[in-house]
Amino acid sequence: MQTVTATRAVALLLATAIVAACSPPADEEAASQAADAAPAAEPQIEGDFSTDTHSFELVAPGVYFVRYTVPMFNSNSMVLINDDDVLVVDSHITPATGGQLIASIRQVTDKPISLLVNTHFHYDHAHGNQAFMPVKIIGHEFTRQKMAGTPLEEGTFARELAGQPAMLERMQARLAETEDAEERTGIEARIALTKAHIEATKEVDPVPPNITLNERLTIYRGEREIQIVFCGRAHTGGDIVVYLPNERIVFTGDMMLGGPSWLGDGYVDEWPETLENLKALDFDLILPGHGPKVSDRALIGHVQDFYRELWKQVVALRGEGKAADEAAAAVDLTAFEDRLPGRRPGFDPLAVARIYQLLDERGE
Ligand SMILES: [Zn+2]
Repeated sequence: MQTVTATRAVALLLATAIVAACSPPADEEAASQAADAAPAAEPQIEGDFSTDTHSFELVAPGVYFVRYTVPMFNSNSMVLINDDDVLVVDSHITPATGGQLIASIRQVTDKPISLLVNTHFHYDHAHGNQAFMPVKIIGHEFTRQKMAGTPLEEGTFARELAGQPAMLERMQARLAETEDAEERTGIEARIALTKAHIEATKEVDPVPPNITLNERLTIYRGEREIQIVFCGRAHTGGDIVVYLPNERIVFTGDMMLGGPSWLGDGYVDEWPETLENLKALDFDLILPGHGPKVSDRALIGHVQDFYRELWKQVVALRGEGKAADEAAAAVDLTAFEDRLPGRRPGFDPLAVARIYQLLDERGE
C-alpha cells in the first residue's frame, strides 16, 4: 500500500493527538517537510494509499472506498474521481473530519469536488457537509426535511452529544487507574482525540441537501454512470444508495452493512423488502457506511431473515403484554450466530423501543 503523508488542513488539535499517539520517525518528518517545500504537482496515485487520517482503497478505476483511520467513531465514504470533477459520498461526522477528508482527497487529485451525496441524515454521515460548501448536496427529500428541521435535536445526535462528558470521564478514570506507561500513552491519545472531537462537534451547523430525489436520479460523467437510488425505507425514512452499474459497485450507507445496522430510526418490517429491491441491482461489491467492504451477496439474505425474525419476536412479546425493555431482554436471535456472528441473548432496548413506537403509531 502506497503511503502519502497528508500535509494540508489537518485540524491542529487532532494532528497533535495523532502525533502523540504515533510519533513518526525523524526521517519521515524530514521527507514530509521536503514534500511541503517541493512545487505542487498533479498527484499521480494509481492504487491504494493512505494519509494520516484515511485509507483509500481503489476498487475500480477512479473509485475509492475511503475509511477513517483515526481511532474515533466515523463513517465510510466513497470518492469518485471523474474526468473533470469529484463526487464524494457522505461527509463524515464534523466539519473538521470533513475537512480532513477533503485534505486527503487533495493527495490524489486537484479536480473540483462538485457533488456530495448524503446517504441519509445521520450525523456521522452528514454533519461534515459544511466543510464542502459551496457544493451541490444530493439527498433524499426525507433527508432534507430532517436536516432542515431540527437536526441537532435528532435522537442519534442528541444521544452522542449527551454521552460525550461521560465518555471522557470514563477515559480519565481509566487513566487514573493504570500505571502501565504504554497504556497511559494510549489513553492520553484517546482523551486528546475525544476532546478535539467535542470541540469539533460545537462547530456543527448542519447543511441540508440542496438537490433532492424521491426515487432515482442518474448522473453522467464521461463514461461513468452514477445512479442514486431509493430502494425503500430501511435504516431511516430516506436511505439512498449510490450504484455504479458499469463498475458493478454499490455504496449502501447504513441500510446494508456487514451485519444488522442501528435500528433506532429504522423501519424494521419494511427493511427486508427494501433489501429485496437492493438485490435487484446488478453488483458484485457492497461498500457499506461502516466496516469493511462486502463481496458476499448472500449476506443480504441473512440480514433480511434477521430483521424478519426480530420483528416477529418483538410483535409476539408485545402481544404478551411485555414492556419494551422486558421484550428487549427476552428477544433471542442466537440462532443466527452461524450466519451473523456476535449474537447474544437480548437485543438493543432502543431498537425494540423503536419497533414498539412503530406499532403504537399504527394502532396495532
Ligand atoms: Zn446511520
